[in-house]
Amino acid sequence: MTFTSPQGLLPSNVEWTRAQREEIAVETVDAIVLLSGGMDSCVCTAEAHHTHGRGRVGLLHASYRQRAEARERRAFSEIAEFYGVRETLIVKLDYFRAIGGSALTDANIAVPENELGAPGPGGSAIPVTYVPFRNAHFLSVAVSWAEATGAAAIYIGAVAEDSSGYPDCRPEYYQAFQELIRRGTRPETKIEIVTPVIRLKKSEIIRRGVELGAPLQLTWSCYQGEELACGSCDSCVLRLRAFAEAGVRDPIAYRPEARAGAAK
Ligand SMILES: [Zn+2]
Repeated sequence: MTFTSPQGLLPSNVEWTRAQREEIAVETVDAIVLLSGGMDSCVCTAEAHHTHGRGRVGLLHASYRQRAEARERRAFSEIAEFYGVRETLIVKLDYFRAIGGSALTDANIAVPENELGAPGPGGSAIPVTYVPFRNAHFLSVAVSWAEATGAAAIYIGAVAEDSSGYPDCRPEYYQAFQELIRRGTRPETKIEIVTPVIRLKKSEIIRRGVELGAPLQLTWSCYQGEELACGSCDSCVLRLRAFAEAGVRDPIAYRPEARAGAAK
């Protein structure tokens, strides 16, 4: 007997038999990965499996009514299925839509096209696609889950330099959050934030993903929530550029005009 994903969207090579699932079922989760469904967090998922082994990794997904919410959740489910992960948690942080202040959560603010790092409100150097203080909310959920389950590591796919320049992706941010965990959890709780790709170039993340056999074909990066990736939002532009630099063909589907534009 085989299991398929709830959506029935998976290619047949990532189905798991009951015996395989029971084999990888264990009592404890050592590491939690914040998996958006994008490339960086997918490679973090591969790193966590490489370090901790199958059955020892829990996957956490946070929806926040972002434009690509449904598509990202599908990517999450497919990657979870690829690794045969049993421990998954999906949380809905709907208040980000009410808070707004970002092109990803406010329908009145357009996602910039072909303009990497378009300025934020009031001409801020931080791009308009930055969601105010979002990663702290994600990390807080992860720390709560880690403390409750006894997991000792939280993986997050923040990228500091070769990315959009969001302030909640900087190494010092994670150092500060690490101290917050130390001060704000039980004395016996030991949780380490792991940022395997924070200092890598995007092209290096792709190469590492290929090396680890990460299912990059299942990832979704586009900020628009459509069937084909747009190829022109910040995230698509960074992704296409990185695949070109890495000399690897991006396995996901784009709008027909996207790849021609990216080649310029
Ligand atoms: Zn896009």
